[in-house]
Amino acid sequence: MVDVCVVGAGIAGLKAAQDLTRNGKSVVVLEKSRGLGGRAATRSVHGNRVDHGAQHFTVREPVFRLDVERWLELGHVIEWSRGFHTLDQTGALRPPGKGHIRYACPAGMNILGKLLAEGLEVRRQAHVRQVKAVGDRWQLEFGDEEVLVAKTVLINTPATQALELCKRVELNAEIETALSAVKFQPCFAVLAGYPSDLAPEWKGVNVEGHLDLAWIAHDSSKRASPSQTVFVLHSTPAFAQKHFFDPPDQVEERLLEAASILGDFVTRPLWTDRQRWRYALADHPAQKPYYSHRNSLFFCGDWCGGARIESAYRSGVEVAEAMLRAQTAEPQL
Ligand SMILES: Cc1cc2nc3c(=O)[nH]c(=O)nc-3n(C[C@H](O)[C@H](O)[C@H](O)COP(=O)(O)OP(=O)(O)OC[C@H]3O[C@@H](n4cnc5c(N)ncnc54)[C@H](O)[C@@H]3O)c2cc1C
Repeated sequence: MVDVCVVGAGIAGLKAAQDLTRNGKSVVVLEKSRGLGGRAATRSVHGNRVDHGAQHFTVREPVFRLDVERWLELGHVIEWSRGFHTLDQTGALRPPGKGHIRYACPAGMNILGKLLAEGLEVRRQAHVRQVKAVGDRWQLEFGDEEVLVAKTVLINTPATQALELCKRVELNAEIETALSAVKFQPCFAVLAGYPSDLAPEWKGVNVEGHLDLAWIAHDSSKRASPSQTVFVLHSTPAFAQKHFFDPPDQVEERLLEAASILGDFVTRPLWTDRQRWRYALADHPAQKPYYSHRNSLFFCGDWCGGARIESAYRSGVEVAEAMLRAQTAEPQL
């Protein structure tokens, strides 16, 4: 039996696991995928590191700044941009004004997950199917008929999935209502590689007023020595909703066509790859930084008070503090 089982190795869950471990708790993280960092995700495509989830992050919270400053010194994080270009409906590309700093990671955004997971016990490819109370403990069923028993559980999945995992738990009404109200928008991401001499000046482009296309990242501009020019295109939520189950080739073609306003070459990539995100961004986040069911089943994530990496990190910090405080109170299953 462990003190704490964290479900999900996203930024929030890993940050909480790190703080709980530092405070002497035995912690196991169960993660369904092979990667770390959840939606702060990176993959290698034709020798290029490409961020197919979160693109960059901001730092407003002092507690997050401490870690980011250390990572900047070590070169894991760079100041990538201050604002982005805007592409308007006439096809005009406007340069950014003076925005706040957007940080990125030369090795890819998933380095954040790897850094937070250092020294933690993370079991990957451990898909949790159910959480249920057994006496005054929690039992988690995961993977291939495996079971883990924990005194306390922290769930770091999008709210909809968290409710699904807990359907055999009689959650209190506040949690049930708060989690049910959180809505996520989907996103379709297209990754496309081009010869290196086609690298544009801009870092990222917000596409204004387009029905299909919302964002184009010059992803290779985050890398130290890119061998190719790589773009990442994000659909609008409405487009992803409508075309979520369409043949991916068709979706990809349509988004590349929409981006070709930046140059005909965009429709002739050397290679492409893609990712469908069912739960990309929380558009109706919950009000609190975490939720607690009877001091022994906790919920955290970006959707607790925000929709970004920064809010995930803050949620992780605050839920860990609450869990440590709750140790002094009797769990009431
Ligand atoms: C396309 C896209 C673009 C984005 N752009 C930005 C951006 O530019 N800037 C920004 O700040 N944020 C951005 N975000 C949002 C950002 O990625 C998230 O806010 C943040 O990463 C969420 O972290 P989290 O810890 O809350 O959850 P997640 O990252 O969702 O982590 C949850 C983890 O739980 C795991 N999991 C789920 N169910 C189970 C289960 N049953 N058993 C075990 N494990 C499970 C998942 O595999 C995942 O690893 C973007 C997201 C997407 C998808």
